[in-house]
Amino acid sequence: MAKPNKKGPTKTIDIFCQGCGAQLYKYRKGGKGALVKCFKERIVEDFTTTPCQCPNCDKEFARETMVRGTPAYKFIGGKVWSK
Ligand SMILES: [Zn+2]
Repeated sequence: MAKPNKKGPTKTIDIFCQGCGAQLYKYRKGGKGALVKCFKERIVEDFTTTPCQCPNCDKEFARETMVRGTPAYKFIGGKVWSK
């Protein structure tokens, strides 16, 4: 019985709106360093109703982009924080 490769990131972080504190994503972050972008396929839970926009205060916090052929959100500096 083959087990799935568990090489992928398993640690999840919570990402919040800097302006109002609403939660935006639960995200499986790989590697270390600052959070500048997130891959859509690694978002575990999406709390937004409009992509890249805070569901609570309607501020835009990211832009859709492609990173090495993979759809991702690039965060706008200072708009989000995570823990
Ligand atoms: Zn907000």
